[in-house]
Amino acid sequence: MIEKHVLHAHREHFGQDGQVYAAPARVNLIGEHTDYTGGLVMPMAIGFQTVAAVSPRQDGRAVFYSMNFDEEIAFEIASQGVSPSGHWSDYPAGVLWCLGQAGVVVSGFNMTLGGDVPLGAGLSSSASVEVATAMALLKHAGATLPLAEIATLCRRAENEYVGAKSGIMDQFVVAGGVVERAMLLDCRSLDYELLPLPSAVKVVICNSMVKHAHADGEYGDRRDEVESGQAVVVQERPGVAMLRDATVADLDACRDKMSEASFLRCRHIVTENARVLEAREALLEGDMKHFGVLMEKAHVSFRDDFQASCAEIDTLVEIASRQPECFGARITGGGFGGCTVNVVRAADAERFVETLRREYEAATGIVADCFVCEASDGALAMLTHRGAQ
Ligand code: ADP
Ligand code: MG
Repeated sequence: MIEKHVLHAHREHFGQDGQVYAAPARVNLIGEHTDYTGGLVMPMAIGFQTVAAVSPRQDGRAVFYSMNFDEEIAFEIASQGVSPSGHWSDYPAGVLWCLGQAGVVVSGFNMTLGGDVPLGAGLSSSASVEVATAMALLKHAGATLPLAEIATLCRRAENEYVGAKSGIMDQFVVAGGVVERAMLLDCRSLDYELLPLPSAVKVVICNSMVKHAHADGEYGDRRDEVESGQAVVVQERPGVAMLRDATVADLDACRDKMSEASFLRCRHIVTENARVLEAREALLEGDMKHFGVLMEKAHVSFRDDFQASCAEIDTLVEIASRQPECFGARITGGGFGGCTVNVVRAADAERFVETLRREYEAATGIVADCFVCEASDGALAMLTHRGAQ
């Protein structure tokens, strides 16, 4: 049990008993690069966890200890400013800072952070550590916040304190996910719907182990291309306040007013929003074949219109698509490497992983990391279930 492990480490490190709060990791099933134009995404929380153990101290200091880095940092809460250092502690310190901005008064504390979420693998250990920290500090301060505010606050920590551009999806599903459910999230209104995932399927995440060196720059370029395309449609088409409101016909109508790159990126997003809605129907009907077809279409659109895939990822998707036990496979995450997500028949998941790893290694010489996952509780549901025990 990770919680026991972290409690034990907290006692060893600080000589105090702590209270523990956990947050999972996440994967996005469909809806890629749609979040920052107010669009639709469909992620789920997965069983990896970050655990935060917290206990009070009397001197007004914040002390964070990470088991993953075996390192401690400490500072005066009252004199905290926005001073990111590129260090892991920016993530929990950013949450503390945002809580202060939201008017939550946090007194001195010791916190131990630990868990089994692979760091930097695209499963959002960053949102996991942010949400676990927020849950622990809220309880420590005797405060509560609703889901949307916890997610928004943690996103601010990542955007404004850490300085990483990201949408709201990760923090929202990490806080609000529910076991055996995917989450359809409207990134504009923050309305969401929990949708049933059949127990006969597992979700396999496969890390290509490739992150192309130009990824950060290209990611920024894609965002710029999308945003400049969006600005054109918003100006030209009545009723379009964000790309989210546009149809392919709207885009076609202003194609000559934007760069070809912007047109293609925006077309990916507009068609992707429609695919997410269709994927919702598929889940409500329990039709995983249809769901898989939509994943494949999403990948083609990401590859050809968004142009943010890469050879290794395409190889993984091609191998997966050939396997009879696989309903659908696509890239997940920002692009230019990272992970694929595969929906497979539960009974054949292990065989699927074996084949995928073997054929990927034969094709590329790279040994992939694969995780067989199912939809798990987010931080709030975990807390409720624990309280009920
Ligand atoms: P991802 O979110 O895909 O895992 P990121 O680069 O966004 O990758 O976030 C990873 C970073 O989050 C780590 O390098 C570290 O700074 C921070 N982090 C995540 N989990 C922990 C933890 N348990 N302890 C300390 N820092 C953590
Ligand atoms: Mg991250």
